[in-house]
Amino acid sequence: MAQMQSFYNKFSDFMRLKYGQNVWKISLDAGLSCPNRTQDGKEGCIFCRNDSFSAMGARRQMSIRQQMQEGIALARQKRGIRKFLAYFQSSTNTFAPVTQLAALYEQALAFDDVVGIAISTRPDCLPANVIELIRSLTDRCDVWVELGLQSSHDATLAKIHRGHTFADYERAVAALQKINVRICSHVIIGLPGESRDEIITTAGRVASSGIDEVKIHPLLILRETPLDSMYRRGEIQPLAMADYVSLAVDFVEQLPPHMVIQRLTAESRKNILVEPQWCANKSRVLGAIDAEFAKRGTRQGAACQSHA
Ligand code: SF4
Repeated sequence: MAQMQSFYNKFSDFMRLKYGQNVWKISLDAGLSCPNRTQDGKEGCIFCRNDSFSAMGARRQMSIRQQMQEGIALARQKRGIRKFLAYFQSSTNTFAPVTQLAALYEQALAFDDVVGIAISTRPDCLPANVIELIRSLTDRCDVWVELGLQSSHDATLAKIHRGHTFADYERAVAALQKINVRICSHVIIGLPGESRDEIITTAGRVASSGIDEVKIHPLLILRETPLDSMYRRGEIQPLAMADYVSLAVDFVEQLPPHMVIQRLTAESRKNILVEPQWCANKSRVLGAIDAEFAKRGTRQGAACQSHA
């Protein structure tokens, strides 16, 4: 049977090729906070609702060891998976004293069959001693660092209260490129006031930054966030699915063919998602993205200007 054409370089395919089998990412909540919430009276990004990261709010009460045990057992039992990636997902996972971070990462790596660790953080929260800790992990397993960028435009970053600039991101990428880690950047499509041209500019900058992977998703309006208040005051409109699909394809066309796409949409718990409601149907969104590529006759890299 002919294999279905893939329009972009999928993370699941990349992992299967690298490890010879499916690898399951176990989402972890280390109970950490974020410098953009706790320092200098900062209240966080306007879209942030920290508990939205965890499928279960109760996760914060469990140790990393317990979360790993539970995640591994579930993936083995329900999916027959035998290899795992420990994913420090919630909040800013480099925002703690380095000894505390080392102990947290150690709990996750103590399990057999864990092939690597993924650490999600902000570009302005990677001091030299944390970079050195991350480098030391590369001696024993594969390491991913996920950097929240969201936009390459400082005006947008200020508008959404990110608390860092594009230059901070470039500095973080440069520091991480000196150690043996895979860098994944997060970008949001549909941020307040951003035009198609600005989104494409961000795609071009991401393409030329020499990173390895990206996560792209639509702006989610979650209950009880500043963004939710803006929506209720009529200051922002949720993105229509057709617009997101078109912009996501524009974005991926700019990326070099070797760059791995970790994510192309986003989901949230039903009880906290205000808009866009179409996000709830992930397979429909991904199907529409494939259909848009097919209609255009393009794929990842079709408009790529970068040689990174
Ligand atoms: S950086 Fe992440 S955790 Fe911190 S406020 Fe922004 S979205 Fe929330």
